[in-house]
Amino acid sequence: MGTLVEVELRPESVERFSTITGRDAIQALQELSARIRAEAPGRIVWNVNSTAVGGGVAEMLRPLLSYARGLGIDARWVVIGGSPEFFRITKRLHNALHGELGDGSPLGDAERRIYEAKIHENAQDLLALVRPGDAVILHDPQTAGLVHGLHAAGAMIIWRCHIGADDRNEQTALGWRFLEPYVTAADVCVFSRAAYAPELLDPDRVVVIQPWIDPFSAKNQDLDPDTVRGILVHVGVITGEAGPTSFVRSDGSPGRVDRCADVVRLGPPPRADTPLVVQVSRWDDLKDPIGVMHGFGELGPATCGAHLLLVGPNVHAVADDPDGARVFEEVVTAFRALPHHARSMVHLVCLPTRDVEENAAIVNAIQRHAAVVVQKSLREGFGLTVTEAMWKARPIVASAVGGIVDQIDDGVHGLLLRDPRDHPAFARAVERLLCDRPFAEALGAAARRRARERFVGLRSLVEYAAVIERGVAAGAPPRAAARDQ
Ligand code: UDP
Repeated sequence: MGTLVEVELRPESVERFSTITGRDAIQALQELSARIRAEAPGRIVWNVNSTAVGGGVAEMLRPLLSYARGLGIDARWVVIGGSPEFFRITKRLHNALHGELGDGSPLGDAERRIYEAKIHENAQDLLALVRPGDAVILHDPQTAGLVHGLHAAGAMIIWRCHIGADDRNEQTALGWRFLEPYVTAADVCVFSRAAYAPELLDPDRVVVIQPWIDPFSAKNQDLDPDTVRGILVHVGVITGEAGPTSFVRSDGSPGRVDRCADVVRLGPPPRADTPLVVQVSRWDDLKDPIGVMHGFGELGPATCGAHLLLVGPNVHAVADDPDGARVFEEVVTAFRALPHHARSMVHLVCLPTRDVEENAAIVNAIQRHAAVVVQKSLREGFGLTVTEAMWKARPIVASAVGGIVDQIDDGVHGLLLRDPRDHPAFARAVERLLCDRPFAEALGAAARRRARERFVGLRSLVEYAAVIERGVAAGAPPRAAARDQ
């Protein structure tokens, strides 16, 4: 017991969105929030996940909940505790829902006992906090087991699943069989794509909400070219003159990048004018970092001496991802096996994560400096790194998997790889964007427009508020209408 950690959230005003959404949208959201507050005074909207740092869920929760607090909604964020065994099982579930074998370990009664024992400990802590009438949003398989206990406490339960597969296979069946007893008891299940909702769920309880990025966060705020260069030089990603490394923290206070990156490379860092092909991701097999390296190796000689940056968090940083250190080791081994010349153009970059906003500002600078952003995932829930690159008007080459196809129309907002394992096709697409800069810039500009229209506004907040409002109106666990995208 005592494993639960509450993440501190500062309220943020949504007023700053007026330049993006216009005043009317802000006013409508304020009215919706006022209704929710009035109808259920004292209600807390709990969000429960399994890591405060690293990965898309943590990335979205912080701003979403900060803006909710700014709207007067008592939104809270708690992180459950786990054990290596628990997180190995939940990572296995994560891979299974993506239709992948993962480490191939069983998901049977023994695993269920381990999973439920940890869930029980966390439930005891949560039950001391959650009151009847509260809403609890449980994120991903790590927290699904909490549904029953919290329901019994009189809370409305929303299970938010950020992953999934468009097709069904033996692995998805295995994963859903494990989760079925929990998720079928949730009042509402939210998915990023309609196709991810398994058949075992009542369609009336399924809602689709697309992910979202905060355009004002340290990750996505505008940085001037001097600061971009200053940050990259300081952390050790490129060579050059020292420059400013400042950014604005979400509470409006000044921030500065002080820590450096931990880089595995051969020889010196690239120069500021070296075109960089960049993939930013957790160190995860499904992000295929080794495939990116091998695909990059197939680039022809006409690519202006481009270098590849594989960027991820410090490998021990992501609490609920036990594979990070192993995958990074495998990437290093594959890197060392490259011929000398190929190796001199590849950089493996681990970013400091102690200060989340400093980490975000470094990612921001790296994405802005990239000549081409790639996301060669084998599977992807949604792919926030793609959204982030779109917002920064970057030319993108990404796999046509999962939520990436909801973001990019091939040849319009970026280039899609029909088969993520097709390295020659990957190399051709990257080469095209490196060599045909007007085309690459046109794709980037279209991507920026698309991100602005769809992925940076207040839509996500409105949609969550609507789910909760339906619950309030029903005076009981709601039956949300199924909605397609
Ligand atoms: N990310 C980060 N620092 C890193 C690596 C990744 O902040 O060193 C962020 C990245 O910018 C994105 C998120 O982690 O916001 C990854 O989300 P995505 O949906 O792409 O993939 P997930 O990790 O959820 O599978």
